[in-house]
Amino acid sequence: MAQYLEIKAEHQGALLFYRMGDFYEMFFDDAVAAAEALDIALTKRGKHDGNDIPMCGVPHHAAEGYFLTLIRKGFRVAVCEQMESPAEAKKRGYKAVVRREVVRLVTPGTLTEDSLLEARRHNFLAAFAEVRDAQALAWVDISTGAFHVMPLPIVRLGPELARLSPSELIVSEAKEDELRDLVSDFDIALTGLARSAFDSTSAEKRICDLFSIATLDAFGNFSRAEISAMGALINYLEITQKGKLPLLRPPQKESEERSVQIDAATRRNLELTHSLNGGRAGSLLALMDRTCTAAGARLLERRISSPSRVTKTIGQRLDAVSHAFENSRLRQELRETLRKTPDLDRALSRLALDRGGPRDLAAIRNGLSEAEHLAQQLSGDLPDLISTAVKGLVGHEELVTLLDDALIAEPPLMARDGGFIASGYDSELDESRTLRDEGRSVIAQMQVKFAADTGISSLKIKHNNVLGYFIETTATHAEKMLSPPLSETFIHRQTTANQVRFTTVELSEMETKILNAGNHALEIEKRLYETLRQAILARAAEIGVTSTGIAEVDLAFALAELASVENWVRPKVDDSRAFNIEGGRHPVVERALAQQSGDPFIANHSDLTAQDGANIWLLTGPNMAGKSTFLRQNALIALMAQMGSFVPATSAHIGIVSQLFSRVGASDDLARGRSTFMVEMVETAAILNQADDRALVILDEIGRGTATYDGLSIAWATLEHLHDVNKSRALFATHYHEMTGLSAKLDGVDNATVAVKEWEGEVIFLHEVRKGAADRSYGVQVAQLAGLPDSVIARARVVLEALEKGEREGGAKQKTLIDDLPLFSAVPAPAPQPAKASAVEEQLKEISPDELTPREALDLLYKLKEAA
Ligand code: ADP
Repeated sequence: MAQYLEIKAEHQGALLFYRMGDFYEMFFDDAVAAAEALDIALTKRGKHDGNDIPMCGVPHHAAEGYFLTLIRKGFRVAVCEQMESPAEAKKRGYKAVVRREVVRLVTPGTLTEDSLLEARRHNFLAAFAEVRDAQALAWVDISTGAFHVMPLPIVRLGPELARLSPSELIVSEAKEDELRDLVSDFDIALTGLARSAFDSTSAEKRICDLFSIATLDAFGNFSRAEISAMGALINYLEITQKGKLPLLRPPQKESEERSVQIDAATRRNLELTHSLNGGRAGSLLALMDRTCTAAGARLLERRISSPSRVTKTIGQRLDAVSHAFENSRLRQELRETLRKTPDLDRALSRLALDRGGPRDLAAIRNGLSEAEHLAQQLSGDLPDLISTAVKGLVGHEELVTLLDDALIAEPPLMARDGGFIASGYDSELDESRTLRDEGRSVIAQMQVKFAADTGISSLKIKHNNVLGYFIETTATHAEKMLSPPLSETFIHRQTTANQVRFTTVELSEMETKILNAGNHALEIEKRLYETLRQAILARAAEIGVTSTGIAEVDLAFALAELASVENWVRPKVDDSRAFNIEGGRHPVVERALAQQSGDPFIANHSDLTAQDGANIWLLTGPNMAGKSTFLRQNALIALMAQMGSFVPATSAHIGIVSQLFSRVGASDDLARGRSTFMVEMVETAAILNQADDRALVILDEIGRGTATYDGLSIAWATLEHLHDVNKSRALFATHYHEMTGLSAKLDGVDNATVAVKEWEGEVIFLHEVRKGAADRSYGVQVAQLAGLPDSVIARARVVLEALEKGEREGGAKQKTLIDDLPLFSAVPAPAPQPAKASAVEEQLKEISPDELTPREALDLLYKLKEAA
């Protein structure tokens, strides 16, 4: 208990998983919290200060699953292991307690086990630092070694967190309160570290030590804030991994200028990597993902999250996809190979942290030899991106041969039990294994001999963990063996209900031999495991390059596969101010329609090409016509083009979009005390304050959250501002028909409408976007389609007519309108009210339901029915 309390005192913020033999046990408050969170039994064990100690425990071999549950519920776990065997402890003294130490802190951002991670997603740990007036964000994925940093003003932290969606963010304790609100918008654990962890001078030393370099200049120029953020990350890894540092790649400096700026709301609304209900399904990412490898899938997620705005980069990516698109035979063959390629990054990171096993060695072997195979398949004239990738795929012959010779085809998960080194690789190991196996057959022969010697044919030699090997016979025969002469050879060990057990000198000598040989073999295997692990780690950097190459190739061929199956085209992306899409489709809606109703998706054209100044389409049309879909599809097509993908259209020409803004859909943010209208205005303000002439803006029905005239005025002024000040390319959907007049006044504004047809008083949605303004809004017809009662629809028609008449006659005041409208004119005449209460009602008044038995209630019901 003293040892427990001492260790616990150092890990106050975490649940202490205290190893006792085959279990991790938790005590006191930890036990209470863990028992509830894990839904396991809470018991007691011993006393402390006269009180029972609450306790619960989980088997150590199943601990990973429990870690995951606890992490998801917001806990951290400190894993405390036994650092010596009880026998070793005894050597130090009769009462010595086994030495224990916390070997690892399990936190959301520091997971590496496959079972705890999503294979196709990154798991980022981020740190935000501030030095004087400059701020920076650094992030790592310790399961793949990715390490990035960028300068980042605090106002841009939200959008970046939305882009990266790290699972944990480290900040200085002083900043924790300030950032809690911001971080609570995302599903991110916030961890405060002491200010010293952010000290940029010691940070520099930490980074240099980690990468064994003399000065940081080797990696480029970093600001103090960037160094501080990176240093804090490494510091946290040192704390949580207890000195075993993961394998990180040299930090890559990212810059905000190189990718399209997308704010958190836009990201969410466009459902880029998560759908609005939170999962991956239904997102653009899920639709686009045809990758065959986990590394390829992670690269795709990064690309979708940060489309480029560098024309050259985009062009190179598109060249790669085109190559893969045109060579469909090669594509199919290559994708076969890719499917067999394991996740090199994650295997490597587990090996580096010494959390791996023989299966990770095999993953490296298989991955590297498939990479070699890929390189052979990719011969001839290749686009730049692919030929660079291919260069990184080769050169591992020596390591592959080593692993090939050393390992069996499908090794077990754990090194602990041995059996993964191939026979013929190490002669000493082979010898020990032979000895061990021969011993086993010698024992089988002994049984035959003993049976003959004793004349007891049912005699057996068995094995268990307590006695080791023993001879077993039934109680009936035992007498014979317990008396001379047999008792001189057979030594009695144990008597159970029906059996009696013996051993002989010969048998125990054989047993020792087998045991020694087995243990020796295990030791050799462990030593060889370590040698192989080191051989791999020595080439970690090169393996990292190979993995990057595999991901790049996989993604290019996956995007080509997608384009070919879905009939997408290569977009033209340049530095012009073009925005011209022919036959554009919304890929997710198209897929949903195909799956649900089989209706075709109606392709639509858009052209926001602007010479100088803005170009805005003002889109009107009834609800349900397809305005939002059209808005979103144009934004998505621009993003897909700039991430380097083909697009769902018959042709597309996009002049680089630098920022993407959207104000679509309305959702209350009640948790933060903001109404729909407030959220809408906050988002609109952000757009008007930030959008420039390279931005693409989509605005859906702004102003709808407030009274008509307020809403119209705000929408009106917003459009003018976008046109005159921001000068952005924009799509602006509205139900205020009054605004269509603006196109005559503002050069850069064009009217467009989503067409509908009216047929026998009902609307038919054509989903076709045309130039021009909608004639009416068809709200009443849409309401009818939705199933509003006929009386309400009829009444609405009367009100609408009166309103429109008033408007035509010059802005009718509400007062006169109310006066003019005959009350209840459309409602069926109300049924006459009964003058006095009916007999049934009288009876009902008498009843007090609480006093009735079910039987009485039923009887009463019959009576009431009769009376009615
Ligand atoms: P609005 O924003 O005008 O109210 P939406 O964009 O939400 O309308 O579209 C309503 C529904 O119409 C969508 O859910 C989709 O099923 C269908 N739809 C929209 N656009 C198209 C299209 N181009 N082709 C086919 N169906 C479409």
